[in-house]
Amino acid sequence: MGYLFGPVLSRRLGLSMGVDLLKYKTCNLDCVYCELGRTACKTSCRDRFVPRQKVLKEIELRRGEPFDHLTFAGSGEPTLSLDLGEIVARAKEIIDSPVAVITNSTLLSNPAVRKEVAAADVVLPSLDAASQTAFLAINRPASGLLAAEMIAGLKDFRKEFSGEIWLEVMLVRGMNDQEAELIARAAESTEPDRIQLNTVVRPPAEPVQALSEEEMQRMLEIFPGAELIPDWDWSVPARIRDRLLDHLFGRPCTLEEISRHLEIDGSDAIKYCKILEKDSLISRRLHSGKLYFHAIDKSINND
Ligand code: SF4
Repeated sequence: MGYLFGPVLSRRLGLSMGVDLLKYKTCNLDCVYCELGRTACKTSCRDRFVPRQKVLKEIELRRGEPFDHLTFAGSGEPTLSLDLGEIVARAKEIIDSPVAVITNSTLLSNPAVRKEVAAADVVLPSLDAASQTAFLAINRPASGLLAAEMIAGLKDFRKEFSGEIWLEVMLVRGMNDQEAELIARAAESTEPDRIQLNTVVRPPAEPVQALSEEEMQRMLEIFPGAELIPDWDWSVPARIRDRLLDHLFGRPCTLEEISRHLEIDGSDAIKYCKILEKDSLISRRLHSGKLYFHAIDKSINND
């Protein structure tokens, strides 16, 4: 069984190599918007779910591969793993890329967890609720978890962690959008480096609704300085698509070269490559430790 996945193209983390320390789907929340579906194992008990040595061996095997972050995420809440701190620390000795941890923030009230997570370079916590009522509605936590303790944990973590904190707020119609101002105040009080607003864009666990693009734009007034994660225009402009495919027929390119050649932002290069890969118009291969994208010659495939 593999514990690493990817690298996947992530607009927040670039080329992200995922590490999954959990059994599917182990979490202390059961968020209504979760793209993994309902939580199969809802627990707040930290445990060992996968063989630590095998995970470390896999990380060793991927050493030298090009990716922008090694990201602890996957099929549940990574801080539930008692191996997180040790594997993050060992991973940092093995690979050169920065290490990221994605967490739902609930266990940051635990000093031992904060210490383990603080071994990472970038931490991406979530905060979807400021009141216990909204926390229960949107995140459906395991018993005993309190929104106030989660916020206090985020504040303590900020005091102890000097790396980057990118706080994500998922906004769901009728669940937490009414308390956006409260969440904004709570988010600011935790002093993250970035606040990233999201809404439901992938198939959710429950039939909940996203905020519209206009509503999300208005949220930027409530969360001053925040960024929007979702991208409503999920297409490649024809002009860019033709130039990109033309270029990639000539020679394979890295993401950096694509961004430079087309004079586009790195996150747009990732987005366009994601779409063209999904449409089977381009493919990737690893060569001399670098990841190259190349156009697929359909005429050869159809022979
Ligand atoms: S915290 Fe993450 S994995 Fe857990 S239920 Fe929520 S979205 Fe899903």
